[in-house]
Amino acid sequence: MVLANFATLWGVEPAELNEWFHATYVDAYHWVTTPNVIEMGQYAHGIFATKPYVSSANYIDRMSDYCDTCKYDPDRDTGEGACPFNALYWDFLARNEDELRSNHRMRLMYGHVDDKRDSGTVSEIRDRVATLRDRASDGELYSQT
Ligand code: SF4
Repeated sequence: MVLANFATLWGVEPAELNEWFHATYVDAYHWVTTPNVIEMGQYAHGIFATKPYVSSANYIDRMSDYCDTCKYDPDRDTGEGACPFNALYWDFLARNEDELRSNHRMRLMYGHVDDKRDSGTVSEIRDRVATLRDRASDGELYSQT
């Protein structure tokens, strides 16, 4: 879930992620990975998944103990040290608003997007994502805060 979540938020091409799973795991058979990675993980066709299976740090923190020892702060969206999943998550929703806002299962989340837009946080989130993408292209996504 975490890998597909990150890939979806980042905007990875679904077929490329599927190929990555095939190259990485010896038991990554097509009949397993293709529906799980392409459809459930990345919402690539929207046929049997009713909404994108994406999350911010909030869900990852609730469902795991990863955040306990992480150098990023799961409670912050922006600024140095803010968890990258948060900015990527809100940016994903804002970028795909035309497609997703009408989905009734996304209504609550788009209420939060509206609040962030009203408070001016969306532009800070976009800046944070731009910084993350710059760092990723330099191969330094995890080496800095
Ligand atoms: S705080 Fe760290 S472990 Fe938690 S979701 Fe963010 S990057 Fe992952």
